[in-house]
Amino acid sequence: MEKTIIKDKLNRPLRDLRISVIDRCNFRCQYCMPADQFGPDFEFLPRSALLTYEEIERLAKIFVSLGVEKIRLTGGEPLLRKDMPILVKKLSAIEGLSDIGLTTNGVLLPKLAKDLKAAGLKRVNVSLDTLNDELFGEINGRGVGTGPVLEGIDAAKQAGLGVKINMVVKKGLNDSEIIPMAEYCKNHGLELRYIEFMDVGSTNGWKMDDVVTKKQIYHLLKEQFELEPVDPAYYGEVAKLYRYKDADVNVGFITSVSESFCTSCTRSRLSANGQIFTCLFNGNGHDIRNFMRNGATDEEIVARITAIWNGRDDRYSDERTAETNKNRKKIEMSYIGG
Ligand code: SAM
Ligand code: SF4
Ligand code: SF4
Repeated sequence: MEKTIIKDKLNRPLRDLRISVIDRCNFRCQYCMPADQFGPDFEFLPRSALLTYEEIERLAKIFVSLGVEKIRLTGGEPLLRKDMPILVKKLSAIEGLSDIGLTTNGVLLPKLAKDLKAAGLKRVNVSLDTLNDELFGEINGRGVGTGPVLEGIDAAKQAGLGVKINMVVKKGLNDSEIIPMAEYCKNHGLELRYIEFMDVGSTNGWKMDDVVTKKQIYHLLKEQFELEPVDPAYYGEVAKLYRYKDADVNVGFITSVSESFCTSCTRSRLSANGQIFTCLFNGNGHDIRNFMRNGATDEEIVARITAIWNGRDDRYSDERTAETNKNRKKIEMSYIGG
């Protein structure tokens, strides 16, 4: 497929697209959708506001024609959206797409892993912040133990999906789980990625003091394991990867706070209600859903996405200070998709 490569103001191409398929979730993780703020009265998007699968497919094709190579499905909890394998099938048929992944809390994988794999999904990232049941129940705000997630991980492996584990580390909450999680993942052949707690949205009470940095985690790991660095597999790879010297398993870090990677950020986001966001921390979305529903042609959509990308100059993490953190109009992770 002929692709038109578009660049933003900082010369970054458009390569990745994260699609949030739903803003709802069956968890209330403290760092993402705290239960006291996302209570029973919280107004989630009505069904009619969500992009349909046909609309997502149409936009995905256009994004691919503009350089996107990888798509990740996320949310909210993407597996809560009905018939996800149907969407995966539509997307995996798009010519010119080299990878399609999904980020999930894992709970619905036992039910869906096989069908997702059959539909063309290659990999899942499963979020798990601790192996301690009580602590996990506290973190996910729903009292759910680790059992359902571990079963989800198993189901994904059984189905032949690649599995990586995401662990958000927050000081004083789950930093005691850094080594147990490393051991578990190493022994089970799972790549673990430690994610620095980020200041996304305005509901999670983020403070710099709560961040456990890559450097701190790496020092802890070095006391227990022998590690060697792994070269990035492609331009713009977000995780900084290491390999255990005595096992064919990687461990990685998403250093969004302590070592930002805006210079090579090639990622665009599409929210569940069809707004395009050019940065996780830029709260100004660009409507594409209504434009499309009002009859825009593919050429017009191409022109709009091109203009949005050409105008992009976001580098929030490079510029992050206490002041920028306070003054930004921010958007919740569960809405924009992690
Ligand atoms: N519900 C799915 C899940 O939890 O995997 C997908 C959506 S979730 C928003 C995507 C990823 O963002 C998860 O790995 C989650 O742990 C991470 N995340 C959420 N809030 C975060 C925060 N404040 N800082 C860092 N990562 C966060
Ligand atoms: Fe839900 Fe994922 Fe956010 Fe947790 S991190 S509340 S599982 S969307
Ligand atoms: Fe990309 Fe924005 Fe994150 Fe920088 S802060 S890496 S531009 S999403």
